[in-house]
Amino acid sequence: MSKEQASIHDFDLEIIVEYFSMLKRQGPGSTEQTHKALSFVENLDNNSKIVDLGCGTGAPTMDLAKHVPGKITGIDLFSKFIHLFNRNAESLNLQHKVKGETGTMEELPFEKEELDLIWSEGAIYNIGFKRGMNDWREFLKPGAYIAVTEACWFTNEQPKEIRDFWLDAYPEIDTIPNKLQQMQDAGFMPVASFILPEDCWYEHFYAPQEEAQREFLQLHAGNKTVEEFIGRERYEFEMYKKYSRYYGYVFFIGKKI
Ligand code: SAH
Repeated sequence: MSKEQASIHDFDLEIIVEYFSMLKRQGPGSTEQTHKALSFVENLDNNSKIVDLGCGTGAPTMDLAKHVPGKITGIDLFSKFIHLFNRNAESLNLQHKVKGETGTMEELPFEKEELDLIWSEGAIYNIGFKRGMNDWREFLKPGAYIAVTEACWFTNEQPKEIRDFWLDAYPEIDTIPNKLQQMQDAGFMPVASFILPEDCWYEHFYAPQEEAQREFLQLHAGNKTVEEFIGRERYEFEMYKKYSRYYGYVFFIGKKI
């Protein structure tokens, strides 16, 4: 990559991080669905070690922290998110239980069989579901749990427009039975899977973005890269409105065998 390309790329990332820092959640989900997924997880106690990979500013992590014993480490690639994450933990008086660290889900700073629970909402796609399931498994104790959300097709066939959109964004998107098979192949017993209801997208993800987008465009008035980025976000929302019966996010909960 040339220097010029690298700086354009960095600028894009900065815009993305700044934009998503304005939002409570960086992915679709809700407090209710986080708790529902947690209801399938057993065997946690005060000594449990829990991690949230790709935690962003921590909306799901804090929901989790209010309901689990043990300690939670949130890991995210971007220090700006981690700064906000730790601030959010403090404002909820959860700083003794929850700690954010900058790092990558590609190289976890844990020992083999150290963890009791791996959580990851809307983030495993960054390394791919199959790779995440296989690589992360070794850090879990036998009998420990993993809970992730992942983009899935709800039907065997999809209209070309949405198929092309996803094959460009995340070619690993697949049907729920295929994802369950991948989870089992990685050495997990599939404990539960359920589709996130549409309010996780409309109310908790896209609605707050409409206000943030207006603000962001004003803040960066005349900036073509920002306009293009917001255009892409709006297109993604249009796709969801048009095709939400064909795809969505699915919670997968598995137990290490
Ligand atoms: N779990 C949060 C954020 C989801 S968005 C929520 O549900 O609100 C996906 C997150 O993954 C972003 O915060 C992004 O910065 C993070 N991410 C992307 N690549 C990563 C990597 N390699 N390691 C750790 N985090 C990563």
